[in-house]
Amino acid sequence: MISEKMRNMVKNSSAIRAMFEEGKKLASVYGAENVYDFSLGNPNLPAPEEVAAALKNEIDNCDPLALHGYMSNAGYEDVRQAVADNLNARFDTKYDGSCIVMSVGAAGGLNVFLKAVLDPGDEVVVIAPFFGEYANYVANFDGRLVVVKPNPPTFQPDIKAFADALTSRTKAVIINTPNNPTGVVYSEKTLTALADEMRKAEKKFGTTIYLLSDEPYRELVYGGVTQPYPAVFYKNTVSGYSFSKSLSLAGERIGYLAVNPECADFQDLVGALGVATRVLGFVNAPSLIQRAVAKCLDSSVDVGYYEKNGAALKKIMDKCGFEYVEPEGAFYLFVKAPDGDDAKMCAKAKEFRLLLVPATGFGCKGWVRIAYCVSPETIARSEKSFLGLAETYRK
Ligand code: PLP
Repeated sequence: MISEKMRNMVKNSSAIRAMFEEGKKLASVYGAENVYDFSLGNPNLPAPEEVAAALKNEIDNCDPLALHGYMSNAGYEDVRQAVADNLNARFDTKYDGSCIVMSVGAAGGLNVFLKAVLDPGDEVVVIAPFFGEYANYVANFDGRLVVVKPNPPTFQPDIKAFADALTSRTKAVIINTPNNPTGVVYSEKTLTALADEMRKAEKKFGTTIYLLSDEPYRELVYGGVTQPYPAVFYKNTVSGYSFSKSLSLAGERIGYLAVNPECADFQDLVGALGVATRVLGFVNAPSLIQRAVAKCLDSSVDVGYYEKNGAALKKIMDKCGFEYVEPEGAFYLFVKAPDGDDAKMCAKAKEFRLLLVPATGFGCKGWVRIAYCVSPETIARSEKSFLGLAETYRK
């Protein structure tokens, strides 16, 4: 018999699987090109050429015993130093190799961090809408998820509601900017205000509150918007990064945690992150791809491709009369369900062979997420279906 905790997780994940199966079923009836699957954040661009070249170079030139063997739990020292140098050059930070723990994607890094810091009952504050998997990650370590309500239409966090969510049991706050699912980039003003509230709460309760900044979309920003680097606003920050989106390497499972050198209990924390990597069974981040990404730290997929997709989709939404959040980054368009019922909108969309995700699972009822990491042709062909969907709201 599987555990009760696992039973809940299986039940919740079957909704996503059901959507996946539904897509396959629709594709078999109507043809894959006539099903418009906007449900997954799976990049639609190949990894930049530099990645293949770096992989080949490692295979051709590295000692295979060293390349394929065990290593320190936190990753290769030269790779960690390269990541630190790259961050310092870009964000004026003061990392060295000891601050970096290579991880199995962002998901692996987030779990490693939570394993390292949570005692049962500790609270982790997230700001809605949030990446739904956070709830599972916090539950993995018997933490308590505390959700700050969404703040439409800007979706910059409601600072008063955030301050009210911080308690003596708050161990960590997770933010995600550029944001999945809204595409919003948290501004300097927002990051300053969040940091001020966390410092106030630390002082009030005599505790340490870590900021876990989940940044898999760091490079994916549009239209002259820049993403301020959250760690410079708050010293107790651990930045989680992933190469899944910026280099289209989602299946390779590679990322890192960067611990601010001024973080409380720095040595203990970094040590615990390494041990957590081991005891969670990752042991270390995958070797070959770890070495390759270290040579591609300044590379990125063509961000303009996603920006154009977003612009094309926005035009369709305008024609439909659907309200949406202006996307500044990531590759999601966040659209308001005209009658406030996101589940119904997604069910109706399916009748037009459109697969969208209801945002109730992201803690934000009444909105839907459209992932535009798809081909421009898919977006162009989907227009008629979206117009048909919009028509149903006019009847
Ligand atoms: N965090 C956010 C906000 C995401 O959107 C995702 C994936 O879509 C992840 C974490 C997990 O990313 P990874 O593939 O690097 O584990």
